[in-house]
Amino acid sequence: MAKDYYEILGVSKDASEDEIKKAYRKLAKKWHPDANPDNRKEAEEKFKEVGEAYNVLGDTQKRKNYDQFGSAEGPAGFGGGSGFGGFNGGTYTYSGGFDDIVDDFFSSFFGGGGRASRSSTARSDSPRKGNDLRASITISFEESFTGCVKEFNIVKNETCDVCGGSGAEKGTKVETCSVCHGAGKVKKIQSLGGFATFQSTVPCENCRGTGKVIPHPCDKCKGKGTVRKNPIIKVEVPAGVNDGQTLILRGKGEPGVNGGPNGDIYVDVKVKKSSIFTRDSLNVRVNIPITITQATLGANLKIPLVTGEKADYEIPSGTQSEQEFVIKGQGFKKINSTTTMGDLIFTVKVQTPKRLTKEQRELFMKLAQTMNEQPPVKKRGFFS
Ligand SMILES: [Zn+2]
Ligand SMILES: [Zn+2]
Repeated sequence: MAKDYYEILGVSKDASEDEIKKAYRKLAKKWHPDANPDNRKEAEEKFKEVGEAYNVLGDTQKRKNYDQFGSAEGPAGFGGGSGFGGFNGGTYTYSGGFDDIVDDFFSSFFGGGGRASRSSTARSDSPRKGNDLRASITISFEESFTGCVKEFNIVKNETCDVCGGSGAEKGTKVETCSVCHGAGKVKKIQSLGGFATFQSTVPCENCRGTGKVIPHPCDKCKGKGTVRKNPIIKVEVPAGVNDGQTLILRGKGEPGVNGGPNGDIYVDVKVKKSSIFTRDSLNVRVNIPITITQATLGANLKIPLVTGEKADYEIPSGTQSEQEFVIKGQGFKKINSTTTMGDLIFTVKVQTPKRLTKEQRELFMKLAQTMNEQPPVKKRGFFS
């Protein structure tokens, strides 16, 4: 038994599978050669040692053999002298645990982007939709009724007009990465002491996982293919739009990647309150103050519409306060429909006069007498 694998991983002989795995991950991270640029040689040795130990202790059968016979291969390994040879020169590929470590390492290397590009199973040059963006506009109640065109500013990446989005300077070309041949990832092989190797897939460092290299980057966009812009975007707001609704401007977002479609812009609409009107589903509601005589005798009223026009409406004699009247078809349009419209509903509010001229007061008193009421001069109980 040349090496004590338990000692290498720093675990006890009766450590659980989980403890072994944890210890291995911790040490593999610690001794990853790329994480130890100053003592790379030592780290490489330790890294191999740790991997070798885990290869045995992390496998139930191999660990059993190792515990019993001091070899992962079991008794045959010692018996005929040829047993160990079976293992010699073999290559085993690691899938458990190691990828995660590389993942962590690369995500710190690429500032968080490494994980996202790695987790994607698609090729790095497959078409992708551009980013969606979000904006908001505020419109008046009247604008929500009639529909309107609004403009807003947005910060977004746009295709670079100098290189047309390729990222390469005029007259030069984007080249396929010679290291990964366009795949964006490479197989990484770590030698494990001569007779075994680790193999895993990692993002290509040469092209940063993109599969492409640009020998002469475009001066304007520095090879990104897009430039930051602050354009004015026009949006047609349809009649009938309600507060809190979102309009989608298809294809107005950021440019697609590798020929993918552009992203969209989501425009949240805020509708300001009106001082006169309120919205009730597709109906418009408005309160109309009327005098006591208009209510009593009936009257021809001019009812304001949301469009700014006025509609004539004849209320009958004997109208009560809070009574509702309907003007058909003067409500909100249903979006994307030419026929469905709400109504305008007005509620009359009878105003009791607070001040009267002398003449008015006399008339009211006469009126009161004809209605068998006491003039309201003396204070009396209603029923007495
Ligand atoms: Zn450019
Ligand atoms: Zn590459």
